[in-house]
Amino acid sequence: TYVIAEPCVDVLDRACVEECPVDCIYEGGRMLYIHPDECVDCGACEPVCPVEAIFYEDDVPAEWADYTRANVDFFDDL
Ligand code: SF4
Repeated sequence: TYVIAEPCVDVLDRACVEECPVDCIYEGGRMLYIHPDECVDCGACEPVCPVEAIFYEDDVPAEWADYTRANVDFFDDL
């Protein structure tokens, strides 16, 4: 799955939402989140993010590792 990290906070550009073929990017509070079970790993969202907030799960920078968990938890809490 792909993960949205800290650069999205308070930006919410939403270019990724337009690109996602399965509509699995959701708005929540101060950022957008990718539903980990719905994402089909197409990668279309990553290059369109103006703040480079989107990473494949294995490529999330260490300082933003918590965001992988945050994306999962966001949907668990719904
Ligand atoms: Fe949507 Fe593809 Fe991005 Fe997953 S990788 S969130 S399916 S655009």
